[in-house]
Amino acid sequence: MLAHAGAARVAHNWALAKVKAVMDQRAAERSYGVAEEHLTPSLSWSLAGLRKAWNATKPEVAPWWPEVSKEAFNTGLDALARALKNWADSRNGKRAGRPVGFPRFRSRRRTTPSVRFTTGAIRVEPDRMHVVLPRLGRLKLHESARKLARRLDNGTARIMSATVRLDGGRWHVSFTVEVDRVERTPAHPGSVVGVDVGIKHLAVLSTGELVDNPRHLVAAQQRIRSLGRALSRKTGPDRRTGRRPSKRWERAATRLARAHARVANLRRDGLHKLTTRIATTHGTIVVEDLNVTGMLANRKLARHIADAGFAEIRRQLAYKTGWNGGRLLIADRWYPSSKTCSGCGTVKTKLALHEREYTCNACGLVTDRDRNASLNLAALAAKFDTAGSGPVPARRADQKTHVHGQVATKREPGTTSVGQTGTVPPQGGTTKRVLTAAH
Ligand SMILES: [Zn+2]
Repeated sequence: MLAHAGAARVAHNWALAKVKAVMDQRAAERSYGVAEEHLTPSLSWSLAGLRKAWNATKPEVAPWWPEVSKEAFNTGLDALARALKNWADSRNGKRAGRPVGFPRFRSRRRTTPSVRFTTGAIRVEPDRMHVVLPRLGRLKLHESARKLARRLDNGTARIMSATVRLDGGRWHVSFTVEVDRVERTPAHPGSVVGVDVGIKHLAVLSTGELVDNPRHLVAAQQRIRSLGRALSRKTGPDRRTGRRPSKRWERAATRLARAHARVANLRRDGLHKLTTRIATTHGTIVVEDLNVTGMLANRKLARHIADAGFAEIRRQLAYKTGWNGGRLLIADRWYPSSKTCSGCGTVKTKLALHEREYTCNACGLVTDRDRNASLNLAALAAKFDTAGSGPVPARRADQKTHVHGQVATKREPGTTSVGQTGTVPPQGGTTKRVLTAAH
């Protein structure tokens, strides 16, 4: 598997070097006044074009090429073709968002080893504890793939591709699957819940529930500190002197990486359980829209972590409400969910971050800051339904809505195509509406 991932990297780097060389050559020729038709022919940046160039040269560049599946090279070339397209689109103004840089070479040390198979024999064995991948053959799984196997057996899923990657010292295989889903409805279709994502708690719901961060997180962090100290006492690699790391350093580094991966897994597990529960229970979910990039620029580290969790919670809620027949409302970025009183609606001008209690000067309400925010978010849903266009039809993602005379901006649903072993990735549209609230 590592050889396949390495082959993907080699193909990527070779093609990138080729693309750069041709670009530089043409630029140099232009500077000498060579006519446009006499320039070195440009290289196609499409996947097909790059693949053709690679296949012509691979016997010289990579004489070992028959040892790995052609899908390995395809993985690297596909990534490069996309990266080049993103860069070109970004430069020509065809792509929204932050400017995309020119593709960079992949380092063996820093790249996550990964390879994607799109064709050939990809299947789950009848015992559900093995998968078969092209060239790699039969691989033993740590967890049963029964959920995926059941869907494959009854014909409600079709495997599109399989990706193998090394993460936290373990190899994972994830399948992109086309799925037929049954229409579902949440347990309480009429209920509304506001979700406030915070620093202290993973989330605070307007139902009064406080969702804690996974409890083992703190213990794991103690272990991470001690492993980090242990690692620093061992003989590590030194690029200047060319010193190789000791075996003990390598073992300690693996232990530290495992501990980090465990924290990430705990957090991911907590998030998934939370969003699944909310999406299967409530008909309407309201979250706030945070300016995540803006916040990354000027807030403290704790805030970063909360924001990362926030973006992920919103992403998961978007596709899980789609699966479960609910709807997700996103409050306007400027809606003062923390500063508004959930009792009387008075808006404070100032509320410092350290003030954990909300005290209303108008009606005397005293409540927890995050709970107050979640109640305000939930209240937005009622405002939206009376001011807006009534009940929301399911599975409409790009509908424009007028609230208080303002036009809500259009928003595309986020889609992903990677599931874990034995899970099914999201499919189809998400029910996501945008809510512009009065300030
Ligand atoms: Zn009040």
